[in-house]
Amino acid sequence: MTQPMSQRIQSLTGLLGPVFQFFTNSTFARHGSDPGAFNFALGNPHEMPPAAFAESLRRWAPPQHKDWYAYVGSTPTARAAVVQALQARRGVTYDPHDIHLTNGAFAGLAVALTTFVDPGDEVIFISPPWFFYEAMIAGAGATPVRVRVRPADFDLDLAAIAAAITPRTRVILVNSPNNPTGKIYPPATLAGLGQLLTEASARHGRTIYLISDEAYSRILFDGTDFPSPTAYYPASIMLYTYGKTLLTPGQRVGYLALRPEFPGREALRGAIFGAQLLTGYAFPNALMQHALPDLENVTIDLDHLQHKRDRMVSELRRMGYELHAPEGTFYLLPRSPLADDWAFTELLAEYNIFVLPGAVVEMPGYFRISLTANDAMIEGSLPGFAAALERARQPAA
Ligand code: PMP
Repeated sequence: MTQPMSQRIQSLTGLLGPVFQFFTNSTFARHGSDPGAFNFALGNPHEMPPAAFAESLRRWAPPQHKDWYAYVGSTPTARAAVVQALQARRGVTYDPHDIHLTNGAFAGLAVALTTFVDPGDEVIFISPPWFFYEAMIAGAGATPVRVRVRPADFDLDLAAIAAAITPRTRVILVNSPNNPTGKIYPPATLAGLGQLLTEASARHGRTIYLISDEAYSRILFDGTDFPSPTAYYPASIMLYTYGKTLLTPGQRVGYLALRPEFPGREALRGAIFGAQLLTGYAFPNALMQHALPDLENVTIDLDHLQHKRDRMVSELRRMGYELHAPEGTFYLLPRSPLADDWAFTELLAEYNIFVLPGAVVEMPGYFRISLTANDAMIEGSLPGFAAALERARQPAA
């Protein structure tokens, strides 16, 4: 009997194997949401959303005219709010027509890939990646090409990127601040990347586009600046989602933005609009766009997030875990004291602590902790983290 589903979706979901296994067939899947669980597995909220979030949705919910809830593309109001924000935050004057409102960065990535890649094209993505990059690239019909970061400092490996570029390379996808490493790629690296992409594009007579996933660009620690990869290469597409700053990822809004110096940006507008329609109406709901001028100024408490990062990093180090302090994002990435990070994840689960095995994000030998956990989870989990480390260090009987 043939399977009812397409072979394409079977092979794409095959690429998501470890993620699906963790979500559906692990102790986390069975007990991660139990009352009292110390749930650090995913970047989901474990506290109430910012009060201003719901207030602004209430404020913009009553229809102001008959088209308030009609089909909307990217609304002029939402585009203007993004232009103003990028001017203030980045000092770059975007054209409102180059701001395309999307259902978060998820949809932004699907739209960007649909706009730029053809079957047979290669898309370089950086490993460790966000869970869905490889399958989304393959889903867009392109060939995913994996390039590892430098193991010592998690920075981009420019020599490895240069070596991976071929005449078929169409896109490189980077994510800074990086999930899961917490790394922010420094200006010198980004300048080098821009230069190598410019040279490779000229050599092959074909522009390589840089898709910059900046989901965490406002989740920064220690007062650090965020250098955008898009500032170092004109053919850059920025992806943004409000799902991290608001920590309300179930109410979806974000955007895709082309810089003023992007080559041929006017000619791309129709293609991007078409890609948004054809990827399943990838525009945010009308209400999210109406509320965007308010939402742009709302954020989770970043001082509190910094406090949680500091507390976890210092406590875990004091116990004997090895980890670096992330520069941005929600995540810590300690080394697993057992070589088998799935096994250590299961050991932590015996203490009611749920973390993500590094192998799920191509970082075997590590595990990922999400700082979206609340204070009670953090404090309550500390004895369990210490006890699990002790047990992992005992010689096998
Ligand atoms: N990119 C990265 C690196 C992410 O971590 C996430 C969310 N976990 C996304 C994109 C998608 O964000 P959203 O669900 O808000 O579209």
